[in-house]
Amino acid sequence: MSLLFELPEAPSVPVMGEEARYPVRRIFCVGRNYAAHARELGNAVDREAPIWFTKAPAALCHSGSTIAYPPGTEDCHYEMELVVALGGHGFEIAPEQAMDLVYGYACGLDMTRRDLQNAAKAKGYPWDTGKDFENGAVIAPITRAEAFGQRGGLAGEQRITLAKNGETRQDAPLSEMIWSLPELIADLSRMYHLAPGDLIYTGTPAGVGPVAPGDRLEGRVEGLEPVTLEIEAP
Ligand code: MN
Repeated sequence: MSLLFELPEAPSVPVMGEEARYPVRRIFCVGRNYAAHARELGNAVDREAPIWFTKAPAALCHSGSTIAYPPGTEDCHYEMELVVALGGHGFEIAPEQAMDLVYGYACGLDMTRRDLQNAAKAKGYPWDTGKDFENGAVIAPITRAEAFGQRGGLAGEQRITLAKNGETRQDAPLSEMIWSLPELIADLSRMYHLAPGDLIYTGTPAGVGPVAPGDRLEGRVEGLEPVTLEIEAP
């Protein structure tokens, strides 16, 4: 079969201690997974079901990048998140089996055009333009789950933090997640056939805020490689 033109290679992420990179197939993201962050955006906190949205793999941006301030927005926000990288297949799995699918973890930034997201929310429209945009899914190198014990036991008392220009803006233990990692993976597997290459951005703690040209972001989760991003003029 011949193609009319070539597409760019599939995006991929470096893995600590590995020569081969992790290719990205899909990017899933969950909203409102930390109670204090849901409240700061004026949302009710419930355990009805996780709120899912997606970003295209083309939105991927490597940690250490300098990006132009995104177009179409006057209120671009950082959201520091723990990213789970899947390495196995699963459909309609139970939470007890969910961690078997985890290949590794990374620090990530779910960059958000908050003004567009808020306008869409108010009208009941999709979030796509607020969430899925070029360089909107920032990711640091992946650390394999084995580093955290046999069952990949991350998401305990490890802290997730974000500093803007050296000043801490987000700081919470991963245990503040409303939906645990096994619950998130199991819930997602009810709607998708999960597969290697699927990334899950697991939500952000309180303290989100705007970025401006000249800002430098540094996000950390204890035990993982930090994610950094610099913003420059559009
Ligand atoms: Mn988010």
